[in-house]
Amino acid sequence: MDKKPSIFSQPLSGMEAWVSARNEPAYRAKQVLQWLYQKRVSRFQEMSDLSERLRGELDRSFRLEPLACVRKTGSRDTTQKFLFALGDGNFIESVLIPASPALYGSPSDRKTICVSTQVGCAYGCKFCASGLDGWTRNLDVGEIVEQILRVEALSGEKINNIVFMGMGEPLANYQNVLQAVEIIRAPWGVGIGARHITVSTSGLAPRIRELADQPIQIRLAISLHGATDEVRQKIMPVNRKYNLATLIDACAYYTEKKRQRITFEYILIENVNDGLDQAAELARIAQKLKAKINLIPYNTVHDFSWKRPSQTRQQYFFRALERNGVDATIRREKGHDIDAACGQLRLQTLRDKSFAGSSNLR
Ligand code: SAH
Ligand code: SF4
Repeated sequence: MDKKPSIFSQPLSGMEAWVSARNEPAYRAKQVLQWLYQKRVSRFQEMSDLSERLRGELDRSFRLEPLACVRKTGSRDTTQKFLFALGDGNFIESVLIPASPALYGSPSDRKTICVSTQVGCAYGCKFCASGLDGWTRNLDVGEIVEQILRVEALSGEKINNIVFMGMGEPLANYQNVLQAVEIIRAPWGVGIGARHITVSTSGLAPRIRELADQPIQIRLAISLHGATDEVRQKIMPVNRKYNLATLIDACAYYTEKKRQRITFEYILIENVNDGLDQAAELARIAQKLKAKINLIPYNTVHDFSWKRPSQTRQQYFFRALERNGVDATIRREKGHDIDAACGQLRLQTLRDKSFAGSSNLR
């Protein structure tokens, strides 16, 4: 693997320091970033208003090799999934979701990307393909930012909404995710505002508090999936470390600091967490925090035995929340694919030996 840092890891300040160390005026930094984020060049040689010498120096200092897309599913108007091979041969996936009414923001012209933050995941939730083979490594800042640029280039779409809901636990790769967010928000970078960026977490309470103290209006989603410790613990081992009371306190702190409503994600799994007692508890928690609830019918993962409840059971649960005056949505078929995204394309690929042999195709 090319050991040079990715040019997409560089904030404006880093670029300015880099150019001034080469006795170039500070405005050169903005020029470089313009080539990357506005003109979207893929080679330093294309940066035609920079001197040959500077282009050479950039090339010696940074990596500018696009993420290799090795597999793609879906098409325009549907959810599209992209499997990328990283420089070290690991795979990650990103998902492009067209107008998605039930998903974090207003309907119609939303183009949402679901980005990964780690290779694998250490948290081992019992419904999630991403954690099945454990954690391999954190993505670096460039690998996070680049998913957006590559998906735009490959799909021809302009993304205006970002959810950190792909593979990995974003708050366990906290520094890199925050630095990526800085580049994503910046006018000199990708230029998507914090209100259009959602971080989803399995509930790392101390990190939620840290994020609350950051001066950015980033949105927060919590993977709840159980409304009592007993049920949540069966689904999410992380609940043994940060139980519901601790998590809810951290969420209350976030809501208070940011003056923002958070979203609880709740996968409905038959006979595991879809009983009306859970609905009642969930409603109580949501009301306390004035949070929204996003119900997600479970997507079967081959390795697990759990099932998606019938439409009727889903509706019972949903209505129980509504009756309690909670703002809830339930993801419909379009969303079905979205969830299948989280780690599942990679898993299929890793388990498909014939594909593994051709993993370095560009
Ligand atoms: N680690 C973070 C972000 C990535 S996973 C977190 O846990 O929040 C985020 C979401 O992926 C889950 O909350 C769930 O909404 C979705 N997901 C993962 N596996 C799924 C499955 N089998 N069925 C439905 N949704 C799933
Ligand atoms: Fe990791 Fe999130 Fe999947 Fe849990 S749901 S295993 S935290 S990616």
